[in-house]
Amino acid sequence: MEYKIFGCKTNKYFTDKWAESPILSWKEGVFISSCVVTDKAKSKWVRFAKQKLKTLKKGEKIYLSGCGSLKEGDIDGDFYTIYPELIEFRDQIELLPEDPEDVKQEIETITKTSLKERLQKAVITGTGLHTKKFIVIQTGCDNFCTFCLTVQARGRHKSRTSEDIITEIKEFVASGWKEVVLTGTNLGAWGATSSENIADSKFPELLREILEKTTLSRLRVSSLGVEFVDNELLELFKNPRISAYVHLSIQSGSDNILRSMNRHYNRTKLLQVLTSLYSLQREDGVLINIGADLIVGFPGETDADFQDTLELVWKYGITQLHAFPFSAHHDHYSVPAGKFPNQVDEKIKTERLNILLNEGERVKQGFLQANDGKYFHVLVEGKWIGWTENYIECTPENFELDPGFVFEKKSIAEGIYRYKK
Ligand code: SF4
Repeated sequence: MEYKIFGCKTNKYFTDKWAESPILSWKEGVFISSCVVTDKAKSKWVRFAKQKLKTLKKGEKIYLSGCGSLKEGDIDGDFYTIYPELIEFRDQIELLPEDPEDVKQEIETITKTSLKERLQKAVITGTGLHTKKFIVIQTGCDNFCTFCLTVQARGRHKSRTSEDIITEIKEFVASGWKEVVLTGTNLGAWGATSSENIADSKFPELLREILEKTTLSRLRVSSLGVEFVDNELLELFKNPRISAYVHLSIQSGSDNILRSMNRHYNRTKLLQVLTSLYSLQREDGVLINIGADLIVGFPGETDADFQDTLELVWKYGITQLHAFPFSAHHDHYSVPAGKFPNQVDEKIKTERLNILLNEGERVKQGFLQANDGKYFHVLVEGKWIGWTENYIECTPENFELDPGFVFEKKSIAEGIYRYKK
């Protein structure tokens, strides 16, 4: 079975689960985890699927999951209405739910021994050094931002139990994993009854529980809603076992646009969070690195609104930009903002995106300069590529092993390296 992932860490997590699940072990073909974040993202996996459909052998199929085949977290019954260009291939396509556990009965029919064999085999066939694992702690959302399709695909907000999450982390740590990246559709809402009930979030408690009950070296938080960053969380980001890289789901720096997006925070809250993060002093002295999801060209975005977004990057040192031009989603499912007046011209969107990305690169070089000569605890992945605590990519060209550092037990998975810009 070939596995192809489009989109986010949540897709990566569930693809790993499908790859380890016995359900597909007897099947041949291509597993695709699809993404609908923009029209461009949709056309990418549809094109890939069509290419593969032309080369499938007898008995092989396309197994499709991810946001493209989901509605409310389950298989989308209108899939072929939404993707009519795939109707002619429907006999070669099998739509799968988000999580293999949603098809539990099929697992039980498979003999226990084969399951154990498969899991052992899955671990053994791991090539190179695997130090990082994505773990979904929450799926779905209740916020309905006006540009978002994910909420339609993944359904309503629900959290996994902390017992479940900690058991999974302990298993990984036991098999040598060093870093866990917590992920989800709106992960900051973990433990809340609704993702809109910000005060009800128990996310800081979960982080503390993971630090107390596991020996995990590094815990990283993937994209986090600004509304969930409070003093408790800021305090936790000082902890050396929590990654010094904080990625925020910001989207815009303008109050007008944030309101029009139906975001659950305003510019004042946003600037408070960025100011606190930018000046945060960690116990290990490592400089915090900040990343952000940003959208340019949202309907009604004026040049002044765009300047409000751009200012966030240079003023608060945002180095990692996941920036997209607003997508009105004309193809397949639509989003409320796709029908808003004052749609921004594609040319202007492209110009603004380039300005933003160039500024991000300039700020990143400044951040790397500020880290020049510093020592880092590097987790090595694959062949000599690794990451520092604050998400600086390490290569033999820009890192040298600390001569005083002695690897324990032949494990080269982590070491102390000096960064040279
Ligand atoms: S918070 Fe908004 S953008 Fe994020 S998943 Fe929910 S609706 Fe979508």
